[in-house]
Amino acid sequence: MLTPLEALRQYFGYDTFRNGQAELISHLLAGQDVFGIMPTGAGKSVCYQIPALLMPGMTIVISPLISLMKDQVDALQANGIPSAFLNSSLTSEQYRAVIKDIYAGNIKILYAAPERLETAGFLKLFREIPVSMVTVDEAHCVSQWGQDFRPSYLRIRSFLQSLPCRPVLGAFTATATKEVAEDIVHLLGLYQPFCITTGFDRENLCFSVRQPRNKFRELLEVLKEHAGETGIIYCISRRLVEQVTEDLNTHGFPAVRYHAGLTEEERIQNQNAFIYDRIKLIVATNAFGMGVDKSNISFVVHYNMPKSMESYYQEAGRAGRDGSPADCILFYHFSDVRTNEFMIENNENTHIRPDIREQLRKKEKERLHQMQTYCTQNACLRGYLLRYFGEKTPVYCGNCSFCLSECTKQDITLEAQKIISCIYRLYQKQLSFNAQGLTEILRGSKSKKYASYHFAETLSTYGIMKQVPESQCLEIIAYLLHKNWIAQDKKGILQLNRNSGVLLKEKTQVFMYVKRQSAPVQKSAHARSRKQISDSDDKLLSLLKECRQKIAEKERIPAYIIFTDVTLQDMCRKRPVSDMAFLSVSGVGHVKLEKYGDAFMQVIKNYQSSENVTT
Ligand code: ADP
Ligand code: ZN
Repeated sequence: MLTPLEALRQYFGYDTFRNGQAELISHLLAGQDVFGIMPTGAGKSVCYQIPALLMPGMTIVISPLISLMKDQVDALQANGIPSAFLNSSLTSEQYRAVIKDIYAGNIKILYAAPERLETAGFLKLFREIPVSMVTVDEAHCVSQWGQDFRPSYLRIRSFLQSLPCRPVLGAFTATATKEVAEDIVHLLGLYQPFCITTGFDRENLCFSVRQPRNKFRELLEVLKEHAGETGIIYCISRRLVEQVTEDLNTHGFPAVRYHAGLTEEERIQNQNAFIYDRIKLIVATNAFGMGVDKSNISFVVHYNMPKSMESYYQEAGRAGRDGSPADCILFYHFSDVRTNEFMIENNENTHIRPDIREQLRKKEKERLHQMQTYCTQNACLRGYLLRYFGEKTPVYCGNCSFCLSECTKQDITLEAQKIISCIYRLYQKQLSFNAQGLTEILRGSKSKKYASYHFAETLSTYGIMKQVPESQCLEIIAYLLHKNWIAQDKKGILQLNRNSGVLLKEKTQVFMYVKRQSAPVQKSAHARSRKQISDSDDKLLSLLKECRQKIAEKERIPAYIIFTDVTLQDMCRKRPVSDMAFLSVSGVGHVKLEKYGDAFMQVIKNYQSSENVTT
């Protein structure tokens, strides 16, 4: 049997697991329920797809949106993993074909809408077919405190109980406050789950807030900065979606609209035009996006302030899923607060008890207030956002509109080395301290606390940061912790980790952002360069994209399911012309090598011989 890592390489073409993935996979394989809270783009799918592959029998994935299922199944099949979905979009013939495949044992992963769990046919089916694992995607939908409550998620628990043998259960979500997380464990009936919350931070996203006088003119500016790139523009109302779409089209920016007031046919058509890269811009209400896995969205503009930080992070987080730099820009105007308040007041959740409804309203107003603070505060945006979700963060992130205009990058390699070697020297004496203690020692404190240690005579690192102010010293330590250069235990005692040694020995540099004393320079994040690819690679990249687009059209699947942009970029850098080399490209597994290797390698060969001719 394959190990999880072998499966990751062979089927998905990735070299290493990301934060949290390996742990979740190994617990599921050991038969323990898991609960993973990971931000969008962190790679939740792999966490249940790999165990599903490795376990005997079948896995059912409960997922709230039809469009998402199709996407996921397309992606799995492209990697050679037998999978299917059951939902209301299938004709009865297609439905029967899937059932037949299930009975024949041809399906490893089955996606199903929660509503399926209520149908007699489905229940009967799984009294006969063994299920090894059930996975609940977007698990927050089970809680009415969450954003997207789906009553049929409440059925999951009794569905599990109806099975002859309880499968292992995994729940995944990108957003869960403490309340919602408790609800998820309780309402799904997770049994002593292994829980993991990986960092919420998405380093590749650049956050900014703008307060333009004329929002539409500002939008045109953004589009100019992002010429030719794919983006979503979120508006607060259907009416505004209509207007912005129309104005964009008359200004020569082809865009489609999306909101709940359109016919289903148009909604699907517009969504597909966007997903299949026939159109670069989509203007939408928050009805759009759940279930949109498109990986190459390079910016998300919020034309209005959304109702909560949860909504904002979820929507903005649709940018840059492939890990490339992407922009999340919010246009704030005070009237957005009023509009949101009005919507909260007039939201008649008739299926909810009046007293609970009142409570919910109060909560929503609180959330709105916190959202407004994000827009109006004068500090690092990422810092605010991460603290909102309960994470510790350094003071300045260096990749938000505040930091980019107010901060400068400072090389702290030397300071970092001093800190690390001080922890190490103390460790040799079997001593350890928290950040405050270490700072005092580094700054040569004469406090009685340290008198008995005789540091002045015995510790070479004592006082080596005398000239650095205490607050800055503490800030650097916090930064090193955040970036995982050092570690701390539950009591805050500092320790070294694997990375620490690297910093001491190798020529790695560490940078931190500090507030600039003089006036700001840049207005937007976009002055920075987005590309790390040379001109000649740029040409090759567009040829590879062309090749991908042709295959996508032929196979009728979205281009990013064949290869993501990140994979094509890696291909450009590595220029593989043999099977082995092609496999080394990030995102290429065995099946994709087999299916697409020749076509892409041919493009590379042709390109290289044309280069030789011209040089
Ligand atoms: P989520 O469901 O958490 O939003 P996805 O499962 O869609 O995220 O993964 C986001 C992207 O990251 C996908 O393109 C996926 O193929 C990629 N990915 C997942 N795991 C890894 C990994 N270990 N190494 C590199 N890329 C990965
Ligand atoms: Zn910042």
